[in-house]
Amino acid sequence: MRAAYIAKTLAALRVPPNLADEAALRRQFSWDTERRELAGLPGGGLNIAHEAVDRHAQGERREHTALRLLAADGSRHDFSYEQLRRLSNRFANVLTGLGIGRGDRLFVLCGRRLELYLAVLGGFKIGAVVSPLFSAFGPEPIATRIRLGQGKILVTTESLFRRKVASVVADMPSLRHTLLIGDDGHPTDAPGTLDLAGLMADAVDDFDIIPTTDDDPALLHFTSGTTGTPKGALHVHGAVLTHYVTGKYALDLHPQDIYWCTADPGWVTGTSYGIIAPLLHGVTSVVDAAEFDAEHWYRILQDERVSIWYTAPTAIRMLMKAGPELARRYCFPSLRFVASVGEPLNPEAVWWGADVLGLPVHDNWWQTETGGIMIANTVAMPIKPGSMGKPLPGVEACIVRRNADGSVAVLHEPDTVGELALKRGWPSMFRGYLGQEERYRKCFSGELYLTGDLARCDADGYYWFVGRVDDVIKSSGHLIGPFEVESALMEHPAVAEAAVIGMPDETVGEVVKAFVSLKRGFEASDLLRAELLGYARKRLGAAVAPKEIAFSSALPRTRSGKIMRRLPKARELGLPEGDLSTLEDGA
Ligand code: AMP
Repeated sequence: MRAAYIAKTLAALRVPPNLADEAALRRQFSWDTERRELAGLPGGGLNIAHEAVDRHAQGERREHTALRLLAADGSRHDFSYEQLRRLSNRFANVLTGLGIGRGDRLFVLCGRRLELYLAVLGGFKIGAVVSPLFSAFGPEPIATRIRLGQGKILVTTESLFRRKVASVVADMPSLRHTLLIGDDGHPTDAPGTLDLAGLMADAVDDFDIIPTTDDDPALLHFTSGTTGTPKGALHVHGAVLTHYVTGKYALDLHPQDIYWCTADPGWVTGTSYGIIAPLLHGVTSVVDAAEFDAEHWYRILQDERVSIWYTAPTAIRMLMKAGPELARRYCFPSLRFVASVGEPLNPEAVWWGADVLGLPVHDNWWQTETGGIMIANTVAMPIKPGSMGKPLPGVEACIVRRNADGSVAVLHEPDTVGELALKRGWPSMFRGYLGQEERYRKCFSGELYLTGDLARCDADGYYWFVGRVDDVIKSSGHLIGPFEVESALMEHPAVAEAAVIGMPDETVGEVVKAFVSLKRGFEASDLLRAELLGYARKRLGAAVAPKEIAFSSALPRTRSGKIMRRLPKARELGLPEGDLSTLEDGA
């Protein structure tokens, strides 16, 4: 058994942290004070692109590398803050020239390449509402989102257009223009589209950012839909203050950092922390166009001298699966902070970081609706592996119970499981679900936003994830969080991943069933099943341990990497599988 606690000392940190004393900062924290570190638009107002790019381009970081793009063919291209300013201005001029303006919805569907960044930043500059889509989506999810979001303009590549968009153009009646990025840099001539490179070449470098305010909409993110139909969450320019503050305190970004966020900008993490937060802090952001490959990733960490790495549990589990020998061929002397988000981070994964990378992985928690990191293990704080950490300064969290009459009671007793709630007032709170006012209203009770996650808070103020409200298992009156059971199973040397669901049972309500994928070198067998059942019973006790285990070569996951527990459940019970647009291929 590993220790329950990873202690830290300030002296052991290589760079003085932005957040040395979390309790002290919490006492004196004010969003207004932090806001003074943002520039604001010259004539008044606030715009994400100005904070992220233009103010650096007008200052001493003008020539500093903002983006380091690693293309799929192995080439790398650097862009300075000043280049990014000029190119995003051009993009803004292209959009304006097409009659796109304030409040119009701009969708971007392309891989991690320069044009994606220019479209997002150029969109902010004209006051449009930007919605980056994941490029692996098929035609149906693309059309659904553009229709739901009433997209007026789409930026995509020629090949994606031909493969995925052309067949559904008729399903997107709001779309006025499609801007195409030519494959291999050649001009495009697909009917009904415009060639982006040609328009960019004709556009000028100067653009006056539209005077947006804190409350002007900036981003539309569709939630990854682990439970139901994707919802469009609207975010405003004022969210940039959360991106700035969390980049500073949760990710400890310093201007000299080389930063790598592995999330695709088609998901909220890839936008908030793959585009916006690193630029706000003037760092160099590494952008890799390729898909996951363990060796390639280790090489990026080593060769690009990444100092801050923000990734996801699913990626870490895949690296764990690839084995420690591979990692040992590389070294990571520049790496000083590793963080993860998106799913529960099993204690095994935290320790894997310490063993293999030389640094524990720091879990943090947030969701599309919160727009930015809310709960985190920060750089100087002791880690309790398996915990999401503590609410960041400026964030007030609590655990609540929803009563039958619709009221909500705050549960003050430490370690009581209930729904995680946040007090309104953080700047990146979503401002609506598109077209679903009632659904939005139901997320709030008075001053509290109810997250839909179950958690508990221990006596030291650390929050522990229990499960989505919908995923929690009720057995003989116990509330069982799937994460706890999955983590225990993952401590067994044969287990690579686990997904746990509740199966209806006449006697106890629900019994726990686990789906398990095995590490390389292990074979599914009745003997191993019996061993795992016994192992789990010993770790968890009979009331919580799975009663059934099924082996599965791969667990169904969303494209953003979250285990989709509702799918094995629906398949087991013969229920409708629901919206599968975010399901990874082949699952
Ligand atoms: P999304 O809005 O699609 O990014 O999903 C947000 C959800 O992912 C949260 O409500 C949680 O259920 C889950 N999640 C995100 N981060 C964590 C974490 N650190 N630990 C556990 N669950 C997480």
